[in-house]
Amino acid sequence: TVAPVVAEVEEKETFDSETAGLLVKELRKSFNSGRTKSYEWRMLQLSNIARMLDEKEKDIIEALYKDLSKPELEAFISEISTAKSSCKEALEGLKQWMVPQKVKTSISTYPSSAEIVSEPLGVVLVISTWNFPFLLSIDPIIGAISAGNAVVLKPSEIAPATSSLLVQLVEEYLDSSAVKVVEGAIPETTALLEQRWDKILYTGSAKVGRIVMAAAAKHLTPVILELGGKSPAVVDSDVDLQVAVRRIIAGKWACNNGQACIGVDYIITTKDFAPKLIEALKNELEQFFGKDPMNSRDISRIVSSTQFARLVKLLEEDKVSDKIVLGGQTDENQLKIAPTILLDIPEDTQIMNEEIFGPLLPIVTVEKIEGSFDVINSRPKPLAVYVFTNNEQLKKSFVENISSGGMLINDTVLHVAVAGLPFGGVGESGMGSYHGKFSFDGFSHKKSVLYRSFSGDSTLRYPPYTPEKQKL
Ligand code: NAD
Repeated sequence: TVAPVVAEVEEKETFDSETAGLLVKELRKSFNSGRTKSYEWRMLQLSNIARMLDEKEKDIIEALYKDLSKPELEAFISEISTAKSSCKEALEGLKQWMVPQKVKTSISTYPSSAEIVSEPLGVVLVISTWNFPFLLSIDPIIGAISAGNAVVLKPSEIAPATSSLLVQLVEEYLDSSAVKVVEGAIPETTALLEQRWDKILYTGSAKVGRIVMAAAAKHLTPVILELGGKSPAVVDSDVDLQVAVRRIIAGKWACNNGQACIGVDYIITTKDFAPKLIEALKNELEQFFGKDPMNSRDISRIVSSTQFARLVKLLEEDKVSDKIVLGGQTDENQLKIAPTILLDIPEDTQIMNEEIFGPLLPIVTVEKIEGSFDVINSRPKPLAVYVFTNNEQLKKSFVENISSGGMLINDTVLHVAVAGLPFGGVGESGMGSYHGKFSFDGFSHKKSVLYRSFSGDSTLRYPPYTPEKQKL
């Protein structure tokens, strides 16, 4: 049964700190009732999400088209189908995930037994972003619910159609006394961040990540920060060039037109190999998006005029605009920018120092492919590193010597689809991780429990500490 929603929250017109406080109070009441902790409640919510994903597929695709002109198939694969897998994983795994994990005890506690109990944290906050506005909202909710928490979602105001659809869907399918959506921008998020939460999962920029972490620190609230950065693709000459290039295009322009946290930000290759690589990229791009990619229906637009202006500024910077080897066309009215490749841009430019998050792809050349280690290691740790090579030694060397959130050899982006792999950044690209059981763990507290009986009570540890005891 679902408890009635506290009316006070809905009566207020503006969402301020006081309203946010009332909302948290209401959710805490639901959490403290113990309802969200039961296996049955969690399974019911998860199966409702699974049903919603089946029944509302069209609405979700429509909202994503309104927000980003995301092509239907891309929207289905990258947002709906991924959410379905995540939900299925939780439905199938939950029973096992909830089982306390037995651990060995030591002679000093004999006789005893010990276990690690996963308990829900309480009331958690999810703040999400606009590039995969559906998936990046629903996936953390799946994790929070699996772990038995009450949860508030704050979707991104920059994807308004998806944001308002999420309000409707959560109300229709989920227990509204324990799962809420608050729409809004900075004022609403600020009001939410002033509250005491038991965990915050934030997806977005490192700049706002710092604001979230500072607000969380006031209440000693733990955070998972899913941030971004400049994720490189290193292309060795020992590759199947056509396959490599297709996969790079898939991880750049066919992935929300470069507006993806794990999208390829820039390429590193050798001076000798660059002309071949560029030629292959040109050919395959034409295969993917035709001769006029500005009018292709298979490529998303730029999300907003602010993002469009930011990207145009990167492109028009001195020492950048004359380095374009493909593309460069922009259309402000349609918020479109053509797939654009740039070669050997000086390092002190803005495009080489901030996350591009759009369809511009610089290629950095080095004398030897091993030179890419210095290029990557001289920058903040990226969210993903992609390496294309048949050379086993080189693969090993990357895995051992480059630190990044994730690494993928001979492909792009697909590592997110493996539920057994934690997804998250390191250093500037974030902290903590989720996906699959890692989501459950991320939203749980691992409580240590030691069981002792009254029998076999040794006096050794009790005073008085006699000389006899000290000899032992
Ligand atoms: P953003 O940080 O501007 O916005 C994300 C969220 O923060 C939104 O919900 C927004 O309302 C809120 N927000 C914005 N400014 C705020 C403020 N001053 N105070 C409080 N809340 C505020 O991020 P963005 O530009 O929308 O997203 C782009 C970034 O997100 C890129 O760096 C990208 O790599 C990263 N990203 C990471 C992942 C991941 O899973 N690691 C996924 C997608 C995007």
